[in-house]
Amino acid sequence: MDDCVFCQIASGAIPAKVLYEDDQVMAFHDMNPQARVHVLVIPKRHMASLAEAQDSDTAVLGQVMLVCAKMAQECGIVESGYRVVANTGRSAGQSVFHLHLHVLGGRSFDWPPG
Ligand code: AMP
Ligand code: ZN
Repeated sequence: MDDCVFCQIASGAIPAKVLYEDDQVMAFHDMNPQARVHVLVIPKRHMASLAEAQDSDTAVLGQVMLVCAKMAQECGIVESGYRVVANTGRSAGQSVFHLHLHVLGGRSFDWPPG
């Protein structure tokens, strides 16, 4: 989608600090980090949110989740703990409507979230 910022990052049209890329998935640093480590993991193919996921997306969603774990390992936050978040819908805090998982670590987190 031409007007989607994460599609533009996935295609290389706009720059990002990319940590990982394969044919289906990309991971890059969030431009406005909310923790010492704040990485976003996206499917390259546009999907507005988890609410749009279909049975046919099983493989790519599995890969997105595995890449979250790899990024946590690479960023050194496995031992201290980390949080993986998919804000889904505006009232849940979603602001970019291309599915993404936040991988946050390097500080402690409250539960329940605000
Ligand atoms: P959400 O509010 O869950 O939709 O999260 C969107 C996230 O995308 C926010 O944490 C933003 O800081 C981040 N973001 C938006 N545009 C960019 C960009 N061009 N590069 C990196 N991160 C971005
Ligand atoms: Zn998109």
